[in-house]
Amino acid sequence: MMSKPNQREGSDGKKRVLDIALSLILLGTVGFTCYYVAADSSRINQSTTYVQNTDTTDPTDETDENQVIFQNEEHQNSDVYNGPLMLVNNKFMFQGSEEDITSLYEVKLEADSHSFSVRDAELLVRQTVAEKLVKMFDDFFDVTYDDNILVLSGYRSKAQQKKLYDEDLAATGNSFSERVAKPGHSEHQTGYCVDLSLIGGEDYDGSGIYQWIDEHCFRYGFVLRYPKEKTVITEIQYEPWHYRYVGVPHAYYMKTNRFCLEEYMAKLKEYPYDGEHLRITNFDGKIYEVYYVVMDAAYDTTMVPVPAGLSYEVSGNNSDGFIVTVDTGEMGELPTEMPTTEATTTETTTTTETTTTTTETTTDETTTAAETTTAAKETKATATATEKTADPVEETGTTAPQTETTTVAPAE
Ligand SMILES: [Zn+2]
Repeated sequence: MMSKPNQREGSDGKKRVLDIALSLILLGTVGFTCYYVAADSSRINQSTTYVQNTDTTDPTDETDENQVIFQNEEHQNSDVYNGPLMLVNNKFMFQGSEEDITSLYEVKLEADSHSFSVRDAELLVRQTVAEKLVKMFDDFFDVTYDDNILVLSGYRSKAQQKKLYDEDLAATGNSFSERVAKPGHSEHQTGYCVDLSLIGGEDYDGSGIYQWIDEHCFRYGFVLRYPKEKTVITEIQYEPWHYRYVGVPHAYYMKTNRFCLEEYMAKLKEYPYDGEHLRITNFDGKIYEVYYVVMDAAYDTTMVPVPAGLSYEVSGNNSDGFIVTVDTGEMGELPTEMPTTEATTTETTTTTETTTTTTETTTDETTTAAETTTAAKETKATATATEKTADPVEETGTTAPQTETTTVAPAE
């Protein structure tokens, strides 16, 4: 007995109601029971693993409280390009919407937070990112009494990115830029990332007390987007000041497994809806289930199976599918230890620190922090290496100079 939640045409309402009713009767299985039927194979080509499970289960045995019913939710294919898990890099350009982008300064003001500064009121990020940043910096301040963090850069429009790119070409005379991401390919266009600096123009390098940010940012859904040992994969130089919001529990999972976003997005494709789902026990013990749903390119929309009665989030991956994150409502054991910073990891990478040739300050823009009289000095630096040209810098206008270029072997 199969119902056809995916079917778009050729079934009248009565039949659908009957189908759903009959299917509901059949539900009842141990653990996660998935109500999914691949029925219309022209629509979504997925196996019927879960249906077979339900068929072999005694329909009267419906006492398992963990059973979950999945139903299809229709998503615009254009939403593949939206959401906190979108991967924007040299390969995948940003083409999503810009809704929910708001002034970080306004959100900070509303929260009455005095634990950090923002470049100015024009600095924009996604609403969620703004709220999480305020929370993170407030907590950081509670621990360290340090209020020197300055958020220097956030969302950039394509026009702004193009301006930066063109300026770099003009300055260098090159036909392409090694330091500025191409318009459309900067993560700053997503609104999900920020660059940090310190009041007074000091570089933010995540050292000293600021290690706290690195060690705790996953609790707020952030990751250090361009780690030192992943430059070959990210194709972006090590940027200790650039934090990216991916949300909970992804940030924790990425941190504990030492995945950069490129690796994590590839990994998630191993967990399609109709296969084994990725179960993540978050740092707070909450268990999440994550799976990937390929975009239905034959239509303008994709039927995304989502659990009824549980909270979930659907994010595009910015290329070919959706990632569903389900809060299962279950609790697992709390992790015995928390992930640490890079410095304490033991993975053997053949890191050859080649040279450190200068930090030539090429700009010296001053921007006024909106709430203080302190001006932040933006410095931009050029690094040259003897063996390898510098990875493209993700943006200009960051504070931390690139003082070294490393040749790093892929970590995985
Ligand atoms: Zn950045």
